[in-house]
Amino acid sequence: MDYYSSQISKLIEELSRLPGIGTKTAQRLAFHIINMPEEQVKNLSNSIINAKQNVRYCKDCLTLTDKELCPICASQKRNKKQIMVVEDPRDLAAYEKTGKYEGVYHVLHGAISPMLGIGPADIKLKELMMRLQNEVDEVIIATNSSLEGEATAMYISKLIKPAGIKVSRIASGIPVGGDLEYIDEVTLLRALEGRVEL
Ligand code: ZN
Repeated sequence: MDYYSSQISKLIEELSRLPGIGTKTAQRLAFHIINMPEEQVKNLSNSIINAKQNVRYCKDCLTLTDKELCPICASQKRNKKQIMVVEDPRDLAAYEKTGKYEGVYHVLHGAISPMLGIGPADIKLKELMMRLQNEVDEVIIATNSSLEGEATAMYISKLIKPAGIKVSRIASGIPVGGDLEYIDEVTLLRALEGRVEL
């Protein structure tokens, strides 16, 4: 049954497709948007469209950026021979917040999960292997300490080690199943400094 005008129903329907947004929240947001000044609504919708049209993967590390290279890969100050492998751009942001890591990153955009049917070909592993054709001193695997994160770390280490590149895994101290983005900077830093060679 349609209680609202079809445009409002459509807006509610679109909002409820977003993660974590149930029908009730979608309704609340929809009415909030309707009551917002038109200017503000235009800014919101333009920023969604602009972000979608201009954001892409960094050519080197595959994080999200609006240029060919992200600011980290474009920086002369970063050590391109040290690559930290993370699951997604939020993990990269978490490590950047510590302000202590001077290498570069590689964003996998996921983790291997046999249960969810996500295999090595479904994450950005091929791209990592391509990067290792250049001179690399160390690959630091900083995937989450979930089952998937550990499986991914094992897989990558087996893949890379024969190439004679040093592979290390960030130390524990990060709670099992812990999502990197929720962990404070001190713990992250300790995990990085205490990393062990695989
Ligand atoms: Zn980059």
